[in-house]
Amino acid sequence: DAVVHWFKMDLRTGDNRALWLASQKAQEAGVPLIGLYIVSPEDFEAHLAAPVRVDFTMRTLHVLKRDLAALDIPLYVETVSKRREIPERIVEFLEEWGVGHLFANMEYEVDELRREARLVKMCAARGIDLEVVHDTCVVPPGALKSGSGKQYSVYSPWFRAWVAHVHANPDLLNIYDPPAKNSPAQHAKVAPLFDCEIPDVPENKRLSDEDAKRLHAIWPAGEHEAMARLEKFCEEKIGQYHNRRNIPSEVGTSNISVHLAAGTLSARSAVRYARDRNKTKKLDAGLEGIKAWISEVAWRDFYKHVLVNWPYICMNKPFKPEYSNITWSYNNAHFEAWTEGRTGYPIVDAAMRQVKSIAWMHNRCRMIVASFLAKDLLLDWRMGEKFFMENLIDGDFASNNGGWGFSASVGVDPQPYFRIFNPLLQSEKFDPQGKYIRKWVPELRDCDDKEIHDPYGRKAGSKVEKRGYPKPIVVHKESRDRALAVYKEGLGRD
Ligand code: FAD
Repeated sequence: DAVVHWFKMDLRTGDNRALWLASQKAQEAGVPLIGLYIVSPEDFEAHLAAPVRVDFTMRTLHVLKRDLAALDIPLYVETVSKRREIPERIVEFLEEWGVGHLFANMEYEVDELRREARLVKMCAARGIDLEVVHDTCVVPPGALKSGSGKQYSVYSPWFRAWVAHVHANPDLLNIYDPPAKNSPAQHAKVAPLFDCEIPDVPENKRLSDEDAKRLHAIWPAGEHEAMARLEKFCEEKIGQYHNRRNIPSEVGTSNISVHLAAGTLSARSAVRYARDRNKTKKLDAGLEGIKAWISEVAWRDFYKHVLVNWPYICMNKPFKPEYSNITWSYNNAHFEAWTEGRTGYPIVDAAMRQVKSIAWMHNRCRMIVASFLAKDLLLDWRMGEKFFMENLIDGDFASNNGGWGFSASVGVDPQPYFRIFNPLLQSEKFDPQGKYIRKWVPELRDCDDKEIHDPYGRKAGSKVEKRGYPKPIVVHKESRDRALAVYKEGLGRD
């Protein structure tokens, strides 16, 4: 007999609820604990996973394997080419090793829930106990209801309820210990599994050597790195987070989104760690920076709650059905200019080049480029959503869909459709000296602080060398008017 924990987007030994439960069960029964991970190239493809994200996952598996081996727990990793066959293959594996109990943390996307529903049936038919538990959110989806008993669709009241729920249930912030060691006898029983090799990154998602070199240096993988980043951020930056979080030229945010997305860090640990550095146990009181940061981590919970309650957002539909009738432009030349950072709007181009180079973009810039795509270019927001998933190291369906829905005004608790960011004003406000632009758009490095935001505009000195930097592909004032008209028409408003 043995107990298996199936790792998915929870690639860590510390503070992992299902892994801890699996360990308890194995201890109680005096049987070995085994870790399992299934590599699914079809899932990577279907979920548009960025090569950099897949690469991060595979690198993390090496760290996880080492950490588990130190506890005499094997990590068995297998590639299953047809994703439909994953439940069958898991059950076969369980039967091969005489496993009576399988544990996993729940994933809430529709494909994953369907897969788990099949696994539930197959395990039940074979007398295997399967336990799938909530773990990825601080507050489990479904726990918070508005006064009328429904899921909230507005963040602020939801956040107040989230805070109150955690205060009323402080155990939600208890941290789970890593699993206990397998004994020598248990180790011996599962010894052949220690020989399992971690496969290479599937071919369809492999990085070039040059990209791998650069990105590995920027994004070291694994839970120790996640914790180190969290500690450093809390030590050095969190105090000023509320003041600095909107300045893209600075490192004012935690840079841990990839770890929350891959599960090398739990949201619970993140909130708990920050809370323990506050003057109070209250999540909405005390130091401004800590309060603000916790409320950002809560956005991640919010979007997952939304996904669970309105699963149709997984199917390419806007959260607000009335926004299905907007006539998008589908102008490919515009889309290409956007993806390549050649729109002639320096702040937009800097941001798009940032993502191309380091697979991450500052939150303020995500909002700016998303608004620019959906409103100034009137391109279908789903093209931008897809591009982000295919290129971000922290691509996460719920947060990405939520962010795009917010910026394109089609999502839950969105920007009103008539609120259209002016990219020039955003640039002047959040990158006043053009530091961010200069870093990512070297063509403009000689522009002064004023002209850099709009190098061909009225404030620009025409003599300054712009090294082929493109002219704006649209005129903001005109595209703003067009967006207003087209959104209104789609919504059937006068
Ligand atoms: P910090 O500011 O340090 O915040 C800490 C953590 O809180 C983040 O790591 C993240 O997990 C969470 N968080 C912060 N802001 C948000 C938010 N607005 N929505 C949800 N969670 C948030 N985040 C992703 O993790 N994956 C995505 O694919 C993603 N796509 C986005 C697309 C758009 C159009 C927009 C506007 C936002 C998107 N975000 C996404 C949210 C946000 O931009 C990133 O989480 C953040 O920039 C990550 O940097 P950080 O870890 O330094 O964040």
